[in-house]
Amino acid sequence: MDREWNPWHGCHKYSAGCANCYVYRWDESVGRDASHVYKTRDFDLPLRRGRDGRWKLEGGTVYTCFTSDFLVEEADAWRAEAFAMMRARPDLRFFFITKRILRLASLLPDDWGEGWENVAIGCTCEDQRAADERLPEFLRLPIRERTVICEPLLGPIDLSTYLDGRIAQVVAGGESGDGARVCNYEWVLGLRRCCEETGTAFHFKQTGAKFLKDGRLYRVPRKDQLSQARKANIDLAAGELYTETT
Ligand code: SF4
Repeated sequence: MDREWNPWHGCHKYSAGCANCYVYRWDESVGRDASHVYKTRDFDLPLRRGRDGRWKLEGGTVYTCFTSDFLVEEADAWRAEAFAMMRARPDLRFFFITKRILRLASLLPDDWGEGWENVAIGCTCEDQRAADERLPEFLRLPIRERTVICEPLLGPIDLSTYLDGRIAQVVAGGESGDGARVCNYEWVLGLRRCCEETGTAFHFKQTGAKFLKDGRLYRVPRKDQLSQARKANIDLAAGELYTETT
């Protein structure tokens, strides 16, 4: 079973991909200021047990820090404890996504070694500039499982120099919300081509609210953005052989 663990909430904007951040949109809708970063009541969730003595979080992937950035500066005082909880639960797979991968080296626990087997990391690259700035470091760091998240995809990205077998998966998606920027299907297919050529897994997660395909701009309601991407049927499993798509 997959679960979420948000040890802290809130973030400050970091790069172009943050312009319409969903955390800000949610918080605004309930009159909250997302730039205020605070430790949540669920901070110690991985160590909590229910009345029956069983862990509250059991098995599967724990999506970690999805209402913040795990490496946001305001959480520096809490992160060592968060890592300690991951260390204490080798039975869970923790997956966090960050735009601040350049900070990671100085924040890793002393016993991180070649990377903990139960921690997978996603590095967000919304455009070529972000990819060229972040991916060399992402590849240099000791990480057991790497995913590149191109969401919101803001332009064409050539990942060919980075997909050398050390990146397990690339995820692509458009942007949601009223101010969403356009996601061009050609950019999505460009990423897919890179993945096909290198045997990297690829997942088209969502179209976003403004989706450009074959010269036509579609306004896709939130409820259909994932299903429309699924209908495109262009995901690739790792190592899948090249297959032409229409
Ligand atoms: S890094 Fe992520 S959570 Fe933080 S402002 Fe940017 S999009 Fe939002």
